[in-house]
Amino acid sequence: MIEQQIKAAIRDIPDFPKPGIIFKDITTILKDPVLCINIVDAFVDQLKGKQIDVVAGVESRGFLFGLTLANRLGVPFVPVRKAGKLPHTVKQKTYDLEYGSAVIEMHVDAFEPGANVLLHDDLLATGGTITAASELINELGGTVCGFTFVVGLGFLGGKEKIAPINGDIIVLAE
Ligand code: 5GP
Repeated sequence: MIEQQIKAAIRDIPDFPKPGIIFKDITTILKDPVLCINIVDAFVDQLKGKQIDVVAGVESRGFLFGLTLANRLGVPFVPVRKAGKLPHTVKQKTYDLEYGSAVIEMHVDAFEPGANVLLHDDLLATGGTITAASELINELGGTVCGFTFVVGLGFLGGKEKIAPINGDIIVLAE
């Protein structure tokens, strides 16, 4: 089972990046090429029959499987990046963090208006980042048609936060 394989591969790092936080380190997944293939296979399998025009991956760990997934689906991959990283004209979205705020950006020509965009990130925690990405996609004229995550931290309520947005929520390991 993919869920067991992922859970066995990730490791908990206590007090990272701040005291009191237990960080799920997914770099250990990347060292297992068969597991990486199985992860993308599981996403492709669960996305069967869906109309997806573009995959958008959230910086930076959302790029890892996001690009491979887009390649497998035969659609473009577009990055959602932190402020100041994208070279062409961008649209920004500011969102609240526990302390302060953060800004994400996408190229204004990332996709055609009306495109069905699948949003991907490595991990769903509170859902703040992916909600901001979803709003940014809407503001650029796209429709979010689903979400894929390798890991979900159920106790942080991310799934409930994004549930009102249209689209399937696929979390491989919770
Ligand atoms: P959220 O906005 O849902 O609270 O946080 C999710 C974002 O923060 C994702 O972009 C994810 O990469 C990152 N993140 C938060 N906590 C963790 C963690 O424990 N492990 C990993 N790999 N990423 C995390």
